[in-house]
Amino acid sequence: MTTAPVARTTTVPVPTQSTYQNRVADYWNAEENPVNLELGKIDDLYHHHYGVGNVDWTVLDEADPEVRRERVTAELHRLEHSQAELLASHLGPLTPTDRVFDAGCGRGGGSVVANLRYGCHADGVTISAKQAEFANEMAMKRDVTDKVRYHHRNMLDTGFESGAYSASWNNESTMYVELDLLFAEHARLLRRGGRYVVITGCYNDTYGRASREVSLINAHYICDIHPRSEYFRAMARNRLVPVHVEDLTQATIPYWELRKEADHLVTGIEDAFLSAYRNGSFQYLLIAADRV
Ligand code: SAH
Repeated sequence: MTTAPVARTTTVPVPTQSTYQNRVADYWNAEENPVNLELGKIDDLYHHHYGVGNVDWTVLDEADPEVRRERVTAELHRLEHSQAELLASHLGPLTPTDRVFDAGCGRGGGSVVANLRYGCHADGVTISAKQAEFANEMAMKRDVTDKVRYHHRNMLDTGFESGAYSASWNNESTMYVELDLLFAEHARLLRRGGRYVVITGCYNDTYGRASREVSLINAHYICDIHPRSEYFRAMARNRLVPVHVEDLTQATIPYWELRKEADHLVTGIEDAFLSAYRNGSFQYLLIAADRV
């Protein structure tokens, strides 16, 4: 009997960070949109997410163009800050000895909001080295480095201690990753009874597949928006049991209407968001879940 020689497979080393993740990191390392930087400068709380709540439309009546710009900037920042406070309000109750994990932390605003509210320790993780460095500088400026720390890491593989966290969240950062991998890491890091919160845009299953506008948003940010259903499936598979679900779509539309009027801050994606929310293909969702 003769046997064919066994084909030898060469082992290709798996990079710690995928090519896609490198591209996402490049995007955020280079990102300097005024809508992210000008708003943050107001109080050194840098949010890279959208806003919720009613707009004070009198800001547009301002006659002096310089003052008008300043008032619009401040109003958008107020709405973004309300969104961060809304998320943080679902993390608690927490005490100063508790530790929280901010997955996909951007320039760091969310971790500071949690620390100011609860006095807790916070670990923020971003795939952008630039963002982590910037956020740590802000923590230094605020003198909270003993409690708030930012790390240049992958939120799917943080290397942090299992069960060490009382709460964790993703604020508009879930569209960059596979939800099962992400929720497995949250479930590993959270203690039993810990709280997970997500605020995200998701596409609406009742509309069908991703609409043209949702696809435009994906292309703009190099991301992959998940359908609403996928959040619940992936949570159920990863020991996360929803306790509160809130559709924030109506609450975020005024933010986009005002942002569209802000010539000094627009990024060009405003119409896609507004159409997607209005035609029902896209939703802005908050889910709070308990880790069992
Ligand atoms: N949560 C922040 C930033 C949202 S922007 C805020 O609310 O302000 C999206 C963030 O997700 C960016 O900081 C980006 O670096 C981060 N991100 C995307 N993929 C990531 C990954 N695999 N690991 C860690 N961070 C990631």
